[in-house]
Amino acid sequence: MRLSRYFLPTLKEAPSDAQIVSHQLMLRAGMIKQEAAGIYAWLPLGLRVLRKIEHIVREEQVKAGAVELLMPTLQLADLWRESGRYDAYGPEMLRITDRHERELLYGPTNEEMITDVFRAYVKSYKAMPLNLFHIQWKFRDERRPRFGVMRGREFLMKDAYSFDVDEASARIAYKRMFAAYLNTFSRLGLKAVPMRADTGPIGGDLSHEFIVLAETGESEVFCDRKLVEMAAPGHDLSIEQLEGVFNERTALYAATEEMHDAAQFEAQTAEGDRLSARGIEVGHIFYFGTKYSVPMKANVQGPDGKEAPVHMGSYGVGVSRLMGAIIEASHDAGGIIWPDSVAPFDVVVINLRAGDEAVSAACEEAVARLEAQGKDVLYDDTDERPGGKFATADLIGVPWQLTIGPKGLADGVVELKRRATGEKLSLSLDAALELLT
Ligand code: ATP
Ligand code: MG
Ligand code: MG
Ligand code: MG
Repeated sequence: MRLSRYFLPTLKEAPSDAQIVSHQLMLRAGMIKQEAAGIYAWLPLGLRVLRKIEHIVREEQVKAGAVELLMPTLQLADLWRESGRYDAYGPEMLRITDRHERELLYGPTNEEMITDVFRAYVKSYKAMPLNLFHIQWKFRDERRPRFGVMRGREFLMKDAYSFDVDEASARIAYKRMFAAYLNTFSRLGLKAVPMRADTGPIGGDLSHEFIVLAETGESEVFCDRKLVEMAAPGHDLSIEQLEGVFNERTALYAATEEMHDAAQFEAQTAEGDRLSARGIEVGHIFYFGTKYSVPMKANVQGPDGKEAPVHMGSYGVGVSRLMGAIIEASHDAGGIIWPDSVAPFDVVVINLRAGDEAVSAACEEAVARLEAQGKDVLYDDTDERPGGKFATADLIGVPWQLTIGPKGLADGVVELKRRATGEKLSLSLDAALELLT
């Protein structure tokens, strides 16, 4: 991608209403544009990162056995009347009336609709275990939309829903998602800690929030320090291994403010391991049993031939919020530092003298060879001065910067910089490309 043909409207200064660093950097890096409070247009750079996050979230869901579908953003109010949530949900729900005076709503979540999909087709235990997910825009009319995409009104969520014949198998489905979440956040370069959570309006008795520790987080959290450094569990786990992953983590204290019990924290955790911090909720999983299947009559026939309501869980990831959380966790004074896994481009090739034939030819060769290896390359072919180019490259956080200029080229060298460490290497173009591929 040639920067001269791209759309990257960067800003020197962040607008003064952006309070936290991730919001400031997303605006400065030309990733998003606010269209209304909590409602954003995703500009090309932001969209690239959003798609990469979405891709990792999707892959880990599929690896954990979940099956993707896509439900609409608009839902009938009558569906929510079946569960009793239409009136209970309150002002966070955006209610819409169509030309026939039909009441609709913009979905804040999809328990009712997925239960409706399930009950339309599944009648027997043989179809289970089943886990269906989608990645779709949600709308919640938040009282205080703020911090950019962190608390938007329109936001992208991955929500999965598990269906099982009884509580015991539903709890296994829950633990499978628990492990999938640990793998997901680790691939995104984040340290996310599962914490006991209140089940809130969704109800039920088993729930964890996944929290990324950050000073700007909206929740106060308390946990055992050891949880922060635990490695991701990996894939294809047996039921025994899943139990192990779950028990090992839940044996350590971790709770958000609403669930915090100071006496228990002290009894359970050595003083040196007690961590109290602030955190960002990036995921939330629930087991809620038959809360929806009973009122909505989603019954299935068990192996004994008897009909019973299906046992369900729901599993949310804030896909768009994750972008803010990643930036909060990974930036410096110069801008964003993307983890390789979600970077909008793998490499930026910086032409120090656009218009110089030899330099341009070398840059174009580098771009072509990198692209041939499947790399996403941004080519800064603009006639901006070098200082500005370096500042932009740092701001947008591309992991590698490959700089080619007339002086170096005369000596047969280019410069390769690793954004995260600032480390710079002077080497031949061949050696640089070797290192990058
Ligand atoms: P919060 O406590 O931050 O309001 P929530 O508990 O209401 O979030 P859930 O219903 O658990 O949210 O939704 C699943 C996930 O969706 C959350 O863990 C979060 O990552 C994301 N999410 C929720 N609300 C928003 C929002 N307004 N903007 C962006 N992401 C959100
Ligand atoms: Mg909320
Ligand atoms: Mg919450
Ligand atoms: Mg939640």
